[in-house]
Amino acid sequence: MLLNAPPQTIAAAADCPFLPHCRLLASELTRRPLIARVYRDTFCLEGGLSCGRRMVAEQLGPECVPPGLFPGHLGTAKRFLAGA
Ligand code: SF4
Repeated sequence: MLLNAPPQTIAAAADCPFLPHCRLLASELTRRPLIARVYRDTFCLEGGLSCGRRMVAEQLGPECVPPGLFPGHLGTAKRFLAGA
């Protein structure tokens, strides 16, 4: 049943392990703290939505996450991983 659910509806079982060092959040915290908080509350904490950045980081390592990849870009993340 879970495999048939759209990726956006699969909630994270724990806080993102990349949260302390996520370059996107660090950048947004500096420039747009309210946006950073929305990302954190929506994607990064336990029960959050699937994150494209986390998807790439888990498979290739956090250093391989494209800087312009945003959490909601699941399709872009999948295409990036397919080409990796
Ligand atoms: S934006 Fe994505 S990769 Fe970064 S901490 Fe949040 S869930 Fe993890």
